[in-house]
Amino acid sequence: MPTIFSKIVAREIPAEIVYQDDRVTAFKDIHPIAPVHILIVPNHEIATVNDVTPDDEQTLGHMFVVAKQVAQQLGIADSGYRLLVNCNADAGQEVFHLHMHLLGGRSLGPMLARRD
Ligand code: AMP
Repeated sequence: MPTIFSKIVAREIPAEIVYQDDRVTAFKDIHPIAPVHILIVPNHEIATVNDVTPDDEQTLGHMFVVAKQVAQQLGIADSGYRLLVNCNADAGQEVFHLHMHLLGGRSLGPMLARRD
């Protein structure tokens, strides 16, 4: 079964795609938690970071280049942004198609809430 993100990559279901090439696709998160919330995904399915192989290195590196370009495109390169990848249950991964969150457009606060 293709993941929901594979269906977005193939344009079988709607999404607000902001960038696409032969390796990666970037689109708006459907439930944004910041004024800018983009997901950058490899076009081919990799379930989690645990499933990454050396063959994926070029694509994963390219995701950072695209993140930088999209941040510039959306006007948050200078103000700043956060790139985040969740892996499995403790990180709250919901969609098992590796994706990088690009978050910005406001001060994002500390990376994690403290549990004191
Ligand atoms: P994660 O918790 O890292 O797996 O994040 C999954 C993200 O995918 C969440 O922020 C969801 O809001 C987002 N998401 C789920 N379905 C869609 C969709 N159809 N289009 C855009 N974003 C989605």
